[in-house]
Amino acid sequence: MIKKLFPVMAVLALFSCNSEIKKENHEVEIETPKVEVINHSYSKLEEVKTIRLNLELSLDVDNRVIDGVARHHMKNLGFEKAYFDIKDIDIKKVTLGKSNNEIQTNFEIGDYDSLLGAPLTVDLSKTDSLINIYYSTSPDSEALGWLSPELTGSGKHPFLYTQGQAILTRTWIPIQDTPENRITYSATVEAPEGMLPLMSATNPTELNESGVYQFEMEQPIPCYLLALTVGELEYRRLSENSGVYAEPHMIDAAEKEFKDIPKMIDAAEGLYGKYSWDVYDVLVLPYSFPFGGMENPRLTFLTPTLIAGDGSLVSTVAHELAHSWSGNLVTNASWDDFWLNEGFTVYFENRIMREVYGDEVAEMLSIIEFQELQNTIDDMNSKGENLDTHLKLDLDNRNPDDGMTDIAYVKGAFFLKTIEREVGKEKFDEFINAYFNEYKFKTLTTEDFIEYLNSNLLTPNDITFNTEEWIYGAGIPDNVVKIESKRLTIVQDLANKFKTGEPLPKDLKRQDKTTQEWMAFIRAFDGELSKEKMMEIDKQLNFKNSGNSEIMSEWFVLGIKNDYKEIRPEMKAFLVQVGRRKYLEPLYTTLADSEETLDWAKEVYKDARPNYHAISFNTVDEILGMK
Ligand SMILES: [Zn+2]
Repeated sequence: MIKKLFPVMAVLALFSCNSEIKKENHEVEIETPKVEVINHSYSKLEEVKTIRLNLELSLDVDNRVIDGVARHHMKNLGFEKAYFDIKDIDIKKVTLGKSNNEIQTNFEIGDYDSLLGAPLTVDLSKTDSLINIYYSTSPDSEALGWLSPELTGSGKHPFLYTQGQAILTRTWIPIQDTPENRITYSATVEAPEGMLPLMSATNPTELNESGVYQFEMEQPIPCYLLALTVGELEYRRLSENSGVYAEPHMIDAAEKEFKDIPKMIDAAEGLYGKYSWDVYDVLVLPYSFPFGGMENPRLTFLTPTLIAGDGSLVSTVAHELAHSWSGNLVTNASWDDFWLNEGFTVYFENRIMREVYGDEVAEMLSIIEFQELQNTIDDMNSKGENLDTHLKLDLDNRNPDDGMTDIAYVKGAFFLKTIEREVGKEKFDEFINAYFNEYKFKTLTTEDFIEYLNSNLLTPNDITFNTEEWIYGAGIPDNVVKIESKRLTIVQDLANKFKTGEPLPKDLKRQDKTTQEWMAFIRAFDGELSKEKMMEIDKQLNFKNSGNSEIMSEWFVLGIKNDYKEIRPEMKAFLVQVGRRKYLEPLYTTLADSEETLDWAKEVYKDARPNYHAISFNTVDEILGMK
């Protein structure tokens, strides 16, 4: 809340004997009303909202700062204030009007909230619709992952990438930071020599002479999908409308690993209709990227941990591609409805994997995910957080990242799979096609979805379904679809026999089984396997040095639980290199369980933390009790 002091000339008639009128100067304290927060944003879209944004950005890589002008073209429904979200951004001035005729205007910055940042309130007239905000980011801006040259492949240039979801776009652009609104944007980016900038927009494929690059995103997107990266990058085309960007040392491996992307696009279009974003490129980022992937439109960001050498982790690419429909085209209106983005996407990802790699692979992936969902639910229940096992969440006054769990992703997907079983694949596919068509370039709430589901699928087909229990209830309803996989049963049996003393078949090699089979094999030990037996497995299958991050992280967790200290050099190398939160969270959580391992973790963390993005180190700080 801002307090403003208004000098007030109060005229006080004091009837003294000479009837003299005295004037006194008073200062009256007036409190400006606190700007209301709706869905993690201070913006009041119903009054003045951005329709199009033009960005002018220049990068100061030495000081880790972006200097920018954000020119907001607004729809003003006759109001005299516009509201934006900002966090760790320095506002230099705000003007109104076109760039050759700008007039400076007043603005206020409200109280800082550690989660939401602050409201930026700009004065304008009822007919103004163009607001220009001059600003610079701070080196602490949470969306910005700045890497020093040593953390890149060639070591020649620094690297920058942004991560906007959920509410971090406000840390690099003053913006109305809610998924409820969609905007188009253009940008001009001035990049340092030798560094190629890319955005979630039309992109260059090589460096130009001037170092100034133009970007355009013509389709309206929610602002968490605004993205920028700058680094030493190369491009390889995979097909007419797809390709891959990576650092030079990784480009060959990336091209090979992701060669099936054109097949995935064909499969996705075959299922749910034409791809709406013209081009589908992927960008392999350095290891500090905190997520598996981020579905920035036209340019998916990926972690290099997906490069396993055998294409075995490409389901994440199918996932990000699926977001081109669910999430990017049809978007959750608030973070409470996050399952609408992710549940649909996990469901759709699995359909793409089934089309391209067959039923067995798709089923193994589903079972592995379902095991993770069950663990998440057990864990939430044990902490008394069973409200978080609902699909529809209430994240008011909480970090929306709290909703990024297996519930939104996997429970959401199993909800859809269960309806699919109930109505049959054909009808369900028709329904989803119609749904994507009805809501394309729009946002919707869970309640909008329920209404659409009832009137377009369940009621016309006379089907009773426990939708409310799935969405507003805890845990997994009993009618959940059951999935089986013979191949996983075989490796689980193998693990059980090994545990009871039978040796592994002598000719068994790691490459004989898929990543998902080995994950099921490791999980079958249920957290218990003697150090000696783990060493025996490593001797034959070398999990600890497999180069496959999914297998390594599962193996390391089992190793910590069973005091397999010999694994520490490999585990340390992994923790220092990889910044993907999905792996860091279980590893550090398990390490924090005993005093001795916690001390070791803290030592390793000294070297590792500088390599992580804020999204990851905030999580690990908390796990290690360093906050
Ligand atoms: Zn996703």
